[in-house]
Amino acid sequence: MDGPPLTDGSIAIDGQLIQAIDQARRSGEIDLGDVILLPGFINVHTHLDLTDAAECQPKGADNPEGFPAWLERVVAFRRKQSLAQQQAAVETGLTYSLQAGVTTLGDILTQPSLWSLLVSSPLRGVAFRELLGLTPDRAADAITELNDWLALQKEGRWHRGLSPHAPYSVRRELFVAAMTAAERRGCPLAIHLAESRAEAELLAQHQGPLVPFLERRGVWDPSGLIGSWEELLQMVPAEQRILWIHVNYLSPRCLSARQTIVHCPRTHAAFGHDPFPLESWQHKGVRVCLATDGLASNPDLNLLEEARWVYRHYPNLTADRVISMITREAAAAIGWEKWVGTLTPGKLADLVVIPWPSGVPLATDPCVAILEGSVSVQAVMIDGQWILPPAPQNG
Ligand SMILES: [Zn+2]
Repeated sequence: MDGPPLTDGSIAIDGQLIQAIDQARRSGEIDLGDVILLPGFINVHTHLDLTDAAECQPKGADNPEGFPAWLERVVAFRRKQSLAQQQAAVETGLTYSLQAGVTTLGDILTQPSLWSLLVSSPLRGVAFRELLGLTPDRAADAITELNDWLALQKEGRWHRGLSPHAPYSVRRELFVAAMTAAERRGCPLAIHLAESRAEAELLAQHQGPLVPFLERRGVWDPSGLIGSWEELLQMVPAEQRILWIHVNYLSPRCLSARQTIVHCPRTHAAFGHDPFPLESWQHKGVRVCLATDGLASNPDLNLLEEARWVYRHYPNLTADRVISMITREAAAAIGWEKWVGTLTPGKLADLVVIPWPSGVPLATDPCVAILEGSVSVQAVMIDGQWILPPAPQNG
């Protein structure tokens, strides 16, 4: 993903790192046969603790219930979910991710105790602590939570981030506190923005279907709302690394180049949102990454299927650009471009092995072969270690 595909390629690995990429033959080499080698995929937006929440999924694009009704279902689901169930959901989500070739995650974490499951997995990533609080009391509690979270030690493969959830659930002071702490600690932010029309109506007029949703939870406090999406964009410090999640209803006028939008294509389709102006954003220089979102809204955690969906629906995008949105550009979005996202000497040896699709000529561009076909990931390496080992080759 940092140059043209290399036919008959060979990767030399030294410890955790890629040492060389060339066409040399080496003693002790493993011949993987006719396969495609790619950098490990990077899924920058998941909610692994909702991996068991398939019953919440939207009912399809024709379903008139809309976003607030879906939120009601997710909140009800979370109420009845025990900590043990959340832990099992995270474990299952990590397994699904790995099977899909995902080696780096950006996961939203609702319970700090789930952190230990992430750091004991072979994957790497950023755990974004979810922060909720529209009323003064709840916002004050969330500020305590964020300080506790950032005071904990770093772990090798996992970093800590903050996710002040969304404009309809976060008080202005909580946004400010999260941005100030993130800037001071150099940690990334993830914010759900402009996800629904109901969110715009709430901010502009303090009315619409999100009001009864918040009232029923006893957290309706219009004095805490930010005035508009544009106001929130202007609050972010200039150098702050931030993932804007969804951004379904913001005009492409509103973001500047080098900012990142995380687009979750099949979740977007399931809600029947307006078409996502992906190419307009890219034309402006805004980085667009693809992610699955959680299983409360998406059918699975297979990031390659998000890429295939985009490749089918945006015919002007080249196959390698689409793959870059789950590798190279995703690495840059979380600030890890020195370490992952491409197969490059000096970077970490995180890679996926995909069998060459049968019947496809070997001269085909490998990204086209992957996106036009339906082959799955066969093997996964992280830090130079096979986590899912390749099938043995005969002869
Ligand atoms: Zn989300």
